[in-house]
Amino acid sequence: MKIYRSALLRFADDGQAVYDSDGLLAVAPDAQGVQRVVAAGSWQALAPQYIDREGVQRIDLPGRLLAPGFVDLHIHYPQTDVIGAPASGLLPWLENYTFPHESRFADRAYADGVADFFMDELLRNGVTTALAFATSHPTSVDAIMTAARQRGMRMIAGKVLQDRNSPDGVRDDTEQGLIDTETLIQRWHGVDRLGYAITPRFAPTSTDAQLRGAGELAARYGDVWIQSHVAENLDEVAWVKQLFPESRSYLAVYDDFGLMRERAVYAHSIWLDETDRKLMHDTRSAAAISPTSNQFLASGYFDYIKADEAGMLYGLASDVGGGMSFSPFRTMQAAYVVGRESLAKQGLSLAPGHLWWQHTAGAARALGLQGVIGNLQPGCEADFVVINPGCTPLLARKTGEARNLDELLFAMIILGDDRLIEQTIVSQAK
Ligand SMILES: [Zn+2]
Repeated sequence: MKIYRSALLRFADDGQAVYDSDGLLAVAPDAQGVQRVVAAGSWQALAPQYIDREGVQRIDLPGRLLAPGFVDLHIHYPQTDVIGAPASGLLPWLENYTFPHESRFADRAYADGVADFFMDELLRNGVTTALAFATSHPTSVDAIMTAARQRGMRMIAGKVLQDRNSPDGVRDDTEQGLIDTETLIQRWHGVDRLGYAITPRFAPTSTDAQLRGAGELAARYGDVWIQSHVAENLDEVAWVKQLFPESRSYLAVYDDFGLMRERAVYAHSIWLDETDRKLMHDTRSAAAISPTSNQFLASGYFDYIKADEAGMLYGLASDVGGGMSFSPFRTMQAAYVVGRESLAKQGLSLAPGHLWWQHTAGAARALGLQGVIGNLQPGCEADFVVINPGCTPLLARKTGEARNLDELLFAMIILGDDRLIEQTIVSQAK
C-alpha cells in the first residue's frame, strides 16, 4: 500500500467538489493487480489508521494537489498532426487536411508511431482515459490499443465506419467495415483496461446499410461504447436533412438505426432541439462538449441551460485535431468562455468545480464508468495527477492568494496548461 500526503481533490456523488488542504490518499492493488483507492480524506482523520502499518510506503508531496486523472470524452488520435491546420470551416478542413492525413494509417508502423506520441501527450497533460476515434483502417485500432495497453491505460477507441461521401484511402466497404468492427470488438474489448467503441464517423459518411449494421452490433454487444458526431454546424445539419429525409432530426438518424443507448457519446450536440434533448436524456446517451474545437471552427456553442433542463449527460472533450489543445485546462477555460454565451443572459456562469467535474467524474458518468474512473473515492481505480499549483510565477502568486477552493481551481483553469501536471499516475494492472 502507498499513502500520499498532499492537498486532495475529489467529488461527491452529487458532483460537488470535495477538498482537503492536508489530505491522505491510500492506494493498494486489488486481487487482479489493479491499483485502487482504499481511503481518501483528511490526513488528520485517516493517518492514525495507516502510517504505522507494515508494508505501507509513505509519499509526502508538500505544496502539491492530487486530483483525479482527466477523462477526455472525444478525441481523434490520428489528428495529432492535424491540430492547428488552417481551414475555412469544417467541411474544407476535412477535405484538405484530415482525410489526406488519415489515409496514412493503413501503414501499421506509421500508426504505431503516432499512437505512441499521442498516448505520451495525453499522459503529459494529465489525461488518463479518452474516448478516441481511430481511422477507418483496422490497423489504426491495433496501434492505439497496443500503445494504451503498454502504458496500463483505460482507453476506449474504435475503427471509423465511413462507406460513402469519403475519398479513396479512408472510405471503407459497407460489409467489410462491419466485419472489421466485430473482429476488433472481439480482439480488444475488455482486454486489460481497454474498451471498444462502434464509431460511425457521422451520419453523412455512412450508408443506411452501414448504420443499420452498426446498430445491430450495438445491440449484440451491449457493453461496447458508441461514438459519433452530431449537430456540429448548420451546413452539416442541412446536409443530413437532405440525406435522411425520413428522420425527424439529425440526432434522430442515430436513434432510427439503434445507435442511441447508454454508453453512446455524441460529440458537439450543439444544434439540438427540445425533442432531441429529451431523446438524449431518455436513451441515456451523452454529449461530448468540445469548446476549443467549436471556437476554432466557429460552429456554435453547447447550451448548458437547456441540457440541464433536459437532464442530459455530458462532459468535456478536446476534440483534437479540430480542438486546439490536449490540455484539459485549455478545454475547461474555453468551456467557461463558451458557456457564458448561454449562461450570461441569466446572470450565471459555470462554477470552477463544475468545470473540473465535467472533465473527470462527470465525464466518467457520461461513459457509464462512475465509481470506476474520474474520481478518488474509495473503490475507484487509482488514475490520478500530481498538480503543482505553483508551476509558473503567476500561478504561484494567484493560487497562493486563493481564499477558497473556487478561487484555487479557477486560477488554474484560466492560467493553466500542461505545466501544471507534474506527474500522471495510472492504475496499471500488473
Ligand atoms: Zn471530432
